[in-house]
Amino acid sequence: MLTAGSGTGSGDAAARGAIRRNNVSVVLRHLRRGARSRTEISRDLGLPNSTVSKLVGELVELGLVTDDERRRAGGIGRPHQAVALRAGARCGLGVEISVNYIRVIALDLPGDVLLDDRAPVDHDRRNHRATLDLTADLVAAALTALRATGTAVTGVTVAAPGHVDRDTGVVRLATNLGWSDLPLATELADRLGPGAPLVRVDNDARLGTVAEHRVAHVPSLLYLTGEVGVAGGIVVDDTLVLGAAHSAGELGHMPLDPRGAACPCGQRGCFETMVGLGTFLSYAADATDPLRDQRRDLEERLALGTARAAAGDARTVRAVDRIAADLGLGLGLLVNVLDPAVVVLGGYFSHLGEPLLSRVRAEVTGRVLAPHAGGCDVRLSRLGFTAAARGAAETVLDDVFTDPAAFGVPVP
Ligand SMILES: [Zn+2]
Repeated sequence: MLTAGSGTGSGDAAARGAIRRNNVSVVLRHLRRGARSRTEISRDLGLPNSTVSKLVGELVELGLVTDDERRRAGGIGRPHQAVALRAGARCGLGVEISVNYIRVIALDLPGDVLLDDRAPVDHDRRNHRATLDLTADLVAAALTALRATGTAVTGVTVAAPGHVDRDTGVVRLATNLGWSDLPLATELADRLGPGAPLVRVDNDARLGTVAEHRVAHVPSLLYLTGEVGVAGGIVVDDTLVLGAAHSAGELGHMPLDPRGAACPCGQRGCFETMVGLGTFLSYAADATDPLRDQRRDLEERLALGTARAAAGDARTVRAVDRIAADLGLGLGLLVNVLDPAVVVLGGYFSHLGEPLLSRVRAEVTGRVLAPHAGGCDVRLSRLGFTAAARGAAETVLDDVFTDPAAFGVPVP
């Protein structure tokens, strides 16, 4: 929120400093929506031109924005959309540890991807060390590459599945990885050594929801992501629903079939057992099929599956249909309860494309009481498997947008 100076001459320099710091943050956050001229910033935020010029100047000094208006002073033509977030200067590093892969993504202030690296992983459920070693190696390589290009790394946020304590960085329970009470933030920080950026940990689906919300441009959204686990997030009035115990979004553990398959959570017939990645793969192929080879890159395997479906392979088409029908069952329930403007299908669902989407839309429309599903728009994610790592990187950058003065970068 914008704060105006009272000008009462109270002499409270500290208070004025806090106001200016807040206003610098307001201008920087406004630029997250896109480049603006100083006049536009002034109009949009209701600040005098002279104040905007000072605040923009401060952000230029901090190395967080570029100001072509200043560069073009004295030049010809009307300057427009001249103030922009500075590309490549500072980034957040997001890391996702999933059952199938580890992914590292660096986003800069304008939200552009500076680095996107991933490695398949075959977890040893009895020993988490190999997974953490591989994660630390990927993060260390990313830090080296980013520093070599002169990009400052603000921090590292790791997206982990299951119940995660954000305050302590401990993964309380991740059933699909076999982790319980694992101090993930500490373990990674120890491996990265001194001088590494601060490491934090959050829930993968929650971070994926943050990323999807940022690109969806709607105030209410339901995100459902499919990997081996199925989870999601709920956004209402542009606010992520955390819940009383910060564990909202365990959409995969709605028991929809009391006589269904056993779930790692201890229940039977959870949504996850019906529409999770493992279930789709077992519907679509035998255990020895390359589609189910854990050592191969998951996105390459899914491309193989969609190619088979496109070619009319009966087993694959049936598998997609069955997943779509069960997705419709769970989503119909959720849309009736939550009435979101948009449902985003992420993870492997987004890779199954139009055949899955059209069937799910029909199922949801048939199950939601409001006419035409209340106008709810079911979409495939454009971020796919990158959503959690992108959301993680964005939450790192939130620190910069909240307090730019604490995160200046040298201006070359
Ligand atoms: Zn379950």
